[in-house]
Amino acid sequence: MRIKALNRRDFMGTVVGGIALAKFGPEAVLADSGMSGSNATPLGSWINNGMIDAGGTHEPYSFVVRRGGQSLNARKEYEYQQSEEVIRKLKDQGVEVFHTHLYKGFGMAVEKPEMEDTVRVAAIVHRLGMKIDTYIQWETMMYETFFVEEPRAQNWYQVDAFGQPIMLEYGYQQSFRYLPCFSNQEYIDYLKKVVRYAVTEVKTDFIHFDNFALSAEPYSCHCPACKSGFRNYLRKKYSAEQRRDRFGFENVDYVNPPRWNSDNRPEKMQVIVDPAFQEWIDYRCQTMADALRQMADLVSSLNPDVVLEINYGGVVGYNSPWLRGADHARLLPLTQVFWDESDRKPEFLPDGTLITAIRTFKVARTYRNVVLTYISVNETAIAECLAFNQTIGFAGVSPLTDDVVKYVSFYRKQRDLYVGAEDLAPVAVLRSYPSITYDNASAGLSAIQVEQTLIQAKIPFRIICDEHLSELSPATCKVLILPNAECLSDEQVAAIRKYVAAGGGLVATEQTAFCDAWHRVRVEPGLKDAIDGPMPESHGRREAKSASAGSPRRKQFGSGRTVYLPALEIDGTRPPDEPYFTLGPEFWKRPKNWTDLVDSIAWATGDELPISITAPDFVAMNLLEQSEKRRRIIHLVNYDIEKHPSMGNIVIRCAVPERQSAKAVRLYSPEFEDAKTLDFRMQDSKAVFTLPPLRAYGVAAVSW
Ligand SMILES: [Zn+2]
Repeated sequence: MRIKALNRRDFMGTVVGGIALAKFGPEAVLADSGMSGSNATPLGSWINNGMIDAGGTHEPYSFVVRRGGQSLNARKEYEYQQSEEVIRKLKDQGVEVFHTHLYKGFGMAVEKPEMEDTVRVAAIVHRLGMKIDTYIQWETMMYETFFVEEPRAQNWYQVDAFGQPIMLEYGYQQSFRYLPCFSNQEYIDYLKKVVRYAVTEVKTDFIHFDNFALSAEPYSCHCPACKSGFRNYLRKKYSAEQRRDRFGFENVDYVNPPRWNSDNRPEKMQVIVDPAFQEWIDYRCQTMADALRQMADLVSSLNPDVVLEINYGGVVGYNSPWLRGADHARLLPLTQVFWDESDRKPEFLPDGTLITAIRTFKVARTYRNVVLTYISVNETAIAECLAFNQTIGFAGVSPLTDDVVKYVSFYRKQRDLYVGAEDLAPVAVLRSYPSITYDNASAGLSAIQVEQTLIQAKIPFRIICDEHLSELSPATCKVLILPNAECLSDEQVAAIRKYVAAGGGLVATEQTAFCDAWHRVRVEPGLKDAIDGPMPESHGRREAKSASAGSPRRKQFGSGRTVYLPALEIDGTRPPDEPYFTLGPEFWKRPKNWTDLVDSIAWATGDELPISITAPDFVAMNLLEQSEKRRRIIHLVNYDIEKHPSMGNIVIRCAVPERQSAKAVRLYSPEFEDAKTLDFRMQDSKAVFTLPPLRAYGVAAVSW
């Protein structure tokens, strides 16, 4: 994987971790979910107060016409959706940020009149004391008009291996939307003009980049800028000796992006071991991140109060670096907000499947981002968003639903419970980039199984990425879980050993550390001695995944405890993996042996976790702390409201910091007007209390 980047990150991570410890002490660090997620270009600090965003339409009228099939009323609707009437209505419903169109990809010349509409709308929005969120299309070049304005653009769009333009996928209806190429600096410079207009003319508060994703193979770009860019990237990233190690030769002048044919189809490839394919994925992800960084730097230079958001998709089971050129670990340090448009309504199914956006929210929190999702799909979605996103995000399009209005009102009234709250999550799950990117069906599935277990067992956890391993400390992380983290670099293996030896807990499953970061099979497992696991076999390695679960193997290593789990057994019949081995909601279940995992975590912890909850499987929990306000906050969400319209008799045991005693427990919910004071008793430094029945969502605050 990205060797140079990793070394730099390791160094930075150590420095950041060291400073955090020295400044706040271990207890404060435990409550600090930041890891190294501090943003590279801090923008728009107003977002720290949360956001309530709604539109408006983001489609300019010209696009509605070109797309076709519109209502004959479309012009009127376009004008209405940006009228003062709509903006005022949303404001009355509690909305604080108005979402509207700015740039769709026709080119600025054609779009000028409608971009000027946005300038006028922004003035209204600001006069009403609100903020404006402006839509900018990242990935569309509508060539029919764009080429007229800018003939050079005939070299700026993405082409496949046969030289054909690559188009956005919208049901075969929008072949006028070419994809611009981000290896081409001339296009990036053009897009900067749009961003500059947004900041200086519109005076936007928030830039939304839509369609922040590349296309899946075979539709990756083979334009001259990409081919030479890729080869230059390899020359810059690796020395001649490293290139020999990587490819078997050092001259990369003729190395190409992957090629495919009917017998070799990308959607059927499960494990990606070809070094050029791996590097091509890396190049695509890095190109997108570098282009975004240019935008972030520009915005920062023009007005650092502007928030930057991308619609890149979230963590929903597809192999995002491989399919979309989007790696959250590179993108989210540059943004404050991102969109997850998957719009699957959260719910608990009779077979134990839990459909949830929690993992997307967890990744967002690691990088201090806010997520925008379609919360209006059901009440659970709104509750889940408040519980795990800690703010509303995207409330919808005018008129808002009654449920959304109810929750917006609750959030505005109780905002104090959310702002500045830090996730208190002593268990960390690694989402290893090379392990998941090079074998989503195996490592990606294990990560999902572990996350589902933690969610349903109500164990407070965070999701971390590769760069966070070097800053792990037993003071901030009680247990690290490596779900089949097959590909770990030598540096990462060393960091994990150091963390365990210093007293950290470790739970590793399946083929963890069997390979290095290039998916080369190690002669001895990377975590040999540290865990009681088997030896890797270069042939037939994958059989371990389908093997029945052996018993977890516990071991003491240095001052820490480790557990090795030979397998995570799939509960039910494994659905088909192809195309592209995407792990949709049909995979979102705990493994059959999930209790082994829970027991292993408990043992590896050494002492108790800060919270334990007795509640059904369809209830999820999030634990946060506001140390200055001296309280811990517990959010509860019901994922099965229709069949279980009441979460009753939930018993919570929540620790308060050492040498403290709880003073009060209060319960808040949109379901009743004022906070309720609950009876509690102290037992071993934990406040123990029972909740009255709640329908969808409740927040308990334990003060000391
Ligand atoms: Zn290209």
